Amino acid sequence: MSPRTSPERRRQPPADGRDRTGRRPAPRHAPNPAPDPELRADCGSCFALCCVALPFAPSADFAVGKDAGQPCGNLREDFRCGIHSRLRQEGFSGCTVFECFGAGQKVSQVTFGGRHWREDPRTARRMFEVFPVMRQLHEFLWYLSEALELPPARPLRRELRRALDEVGRLTRAGAGELADLDVPEVRRRVDELLLRTSELVRATAPGHRRGRRNHRRADLMGARLKGADLRGADLRGAYLIAADLRGADLRGADLIGADLRDADLRGADLTGSVFLTQPQVDAARGDARTALPRRLARPAHWRSAARGGS
Ligand code: SF4
Repeated sequence: MSPRTSPERRRQPPADGRDRTGRRPAPRHAPNPAPDPELRADCGSCFALCCVALPFAPSADFAVGKDAGQPCGNLREDFRCGIHSRLRQEGFSGCTVFECFGAGQKVSQVTFGGRHWREDPRTARRMFEVFPVMRQLHEFLWYLSEALELPPARPLRRELRRALDEVGRLTRAGAGELADLDVPEVRRRVDELLLRTSELVRATAPGHRRGRRNHRRADLMGARLKGADLRGADLRGAYLIAADLRGADLRGADLIGADLRDADLRGADLTGSVFLTQPQVDAARGDARTALPRRLARPAHWRSAARGGS
């Protein structure tokens, strides 16, 4: 799904720990602990692109819909969300799980040199066109930088480094080149490398046996997988919506693109799983016992859910 925005991140202070009003904001979850700051959303340096450039349709995640390029009705003049503290209650839970991987500030400050769409409406259309492209490129950077850190992927390091440099170069291209970029072709090349990385990593997962546990793009919606042994499983693109994964062992599993909305991860072990992102985790349910990969933060709503007894 598309356009969800990250209001809590929008509330994060730019640099000095304070928001634009001078008050220290209360983040809803720990900041994205991505090792590279370029891949962390810095909403204080972004012109609320996720709240404007992306469309969304009325659904369980969004109380109302809007078209791409149209500012959300809740967006204030100062680029802040007017309902930030009660997004879930107001029916905008989709906004709480969006991650731009740092694409917003890159488009705002690098591609467009700090000119925002309210000041310069002539550039607005191009800016809104470039943002989804940049968001995908930054997501590729996230995966590639993770792959580079994985010891079993050592034989691929040179290729991974080359791909990382190439995608990084694309993110610094001009607006015209970005708008015309063949993103599916970039994705194809990156995916090929990530798949080879995944095979190397999963082959070393404890309990992994070649050929077993292939659930790629499997329909596992609502599946009863409580306590399941999914070590080293291929769950690429699997539909795990509302699946019961309580206490499941997902160490070394590949979860790239898996849909974890409302999946129950309480007590599950996801340490060493690969290509899992913060939006996937934010969309799932979990608790203090859920073990996450080092790169990811524990969502704040997991704590409030535990207090509420869910
Ligand atoms: S409700 Fe609108 S303004 Fe608020 S975070 Fe979501 S998209 Fe942005």
